[in-house]
Amino acid sequence: AAIARGHNFSAGPGALPTEVLEEVRDELLSFRDAGASVMEISHRSPQYTDVHEGAKAKMKSLLGIGDGWHVLFLQSGASMQFHQVPLNFLKPGQTADYIDTGNWSAKAVKEAQIVARDRGATVHVAASSAGADYTFIPSEAETSRSPEAAYLHFTSNNTIFGTEFGAEPLADCPLVCDASSDFLGRPIDTSRYGLIYAGAQKNIGPAGVTAVLVTDEFLQTRMEGLPTLLDYGTHAAKLFHTPPVFAIYIVDKVMDWITANGGLEGMKARNAAKAATLYGAIDASDFYRGTAREDSRSLMNVTFRLPSEDLEATFVSESKAHGLLALKGYRTVGGVRASLYNAVSPEAVDALVGFMRDFEASNG
Ligand code: PLP
Repeated sequence: AAIARGHNFSAGPGALPTEVLEEVRDELLSFRDAGASVMEISHRSPQYTDVHEGAKAKMKSLLGIGDGWHVLFLQSGASMQFHQVPLNFLKPGQTADYIDTGNWSAKAVKEAQIVARDRGATVHVAASSAGADYTFIPSEAETSRSPEAAYLHFTSNNTIFGTEFGAEPLADCPLVCDASSDFLGRPIDTSRYGLIYAGAQKNIGPAGVTAVLVTDEFLQTRMEGLPTLLDYGTHAAKLFHTPPVFAIYIVDKVMDWITANGGLEGMKARNAAKAATLYGAIDASDFYRGTAREDSRSLMNVTFRLPSEDLEATFVSESKAHGLLALKGYRTVGGVRASLYNAVSPEAVDALVGFMRDFEASNG
C-alpha cells in the first residue's frame, strides 16, 4: 500500500527523492546478488566497492572535476571539518581568512582559533555580517583579505539565516568551502577551490557521511605528523577503515537521480524556479516579510516572518495539518523557514504558496 509522504521542507536532515527511497526499499533485504543487505556485507566486497567508487566518480562527473581531486567520505559531520581543515592546512606562523556569515561560519572560526592558538598561527575574520543579524553576504568591498593567507574559508549557504553567496568570494589563495546546505544544488567554479566539504544530510543523502573534496595540490601542502584519522592524506591514499556504507550507498543513488534530472544545471534551474515562486509570494504580500537582504537571498533556505509570533506558531501547526512539514525556523531565530533542497519538488512549493495565500486570507 502507498504510504503518504508530506511535502518536506526540513532544513536537515532534509528531503530525499522518493524514487531513491523506493529503490532502497526494494533492495533493503538483498543487495544485487549479495544475498544480504548492503549494510551486512564487507566494505571490501566487490558489490560495495562498486557503490563506493561509483559514488565518487559520479560526484566528480557532476562537478566536472578529474584526477586532480580526491573525494573522501568521512564521518563526524561537517562540524568535524571545522577543526580538521585548520588542523591540516593552517601551519605555524600562517594566517587563514574566514568570512563569517552565520552560526556555522562562526563555529568554523572558533575551531580554527583553537588550532591557531596551539600553533602560533592566525585566524583573520576577513568579513562578518554578525552585526546585522547575519542578514546579508558581505561584498568584496566589505572584505579585508590577508596578503598571504593559507586559504579563505566561507560558508556558501547559510542554512539558518537564508543567505547564500551568489558567486565565490575573491581570493588569491585556495578557497575552502562549507557547502553543506547547497552542495550540488548548482554548478560552481571548481578551479577556485582547494577543499569543499558538505554534511550529506541536507542536499545529497542521509546523515552519517560527510563529503570532502580536496585537490591533490592543496592536499600536498598539509601539516605532517597528524593523528592518522584526522590526516586527510590517510583517506586520500586508500579506504582506511569501515566507511558509513549505508549512507554512501544512498548518496550514490542520489548522484544518479541528480544526473537523471539534468545534472547541476538542471538542479540550478529547478532550485531557482522554486525559490522564485516562494520569494515572489513573499514579496507580493505585506503579511509575509523575508528576513534576508534581497541581494543575498538563498535558493535553498527561504526564511520569513509573519506579523506576530502567535501567527507564526499557528502557521506552522496548520501547515503541518496540510501535509507541509518542518516549516518552523531555527530555534534561536524563530520565524518560518522553508528549505528547498534538490529533492523538494516544484509541486511542494506550489502547495506551500497556496497554503500561504489561504492563511493570509483567513488571518491577515
Ligand atoms: N554547516 C552548515 C552550513 C550547516 O547547515 C550545518 C547543519 O547542521 C553544519 C555545518 C553542521 O553539520 P553537522 O551536523 O553535519 O556537523
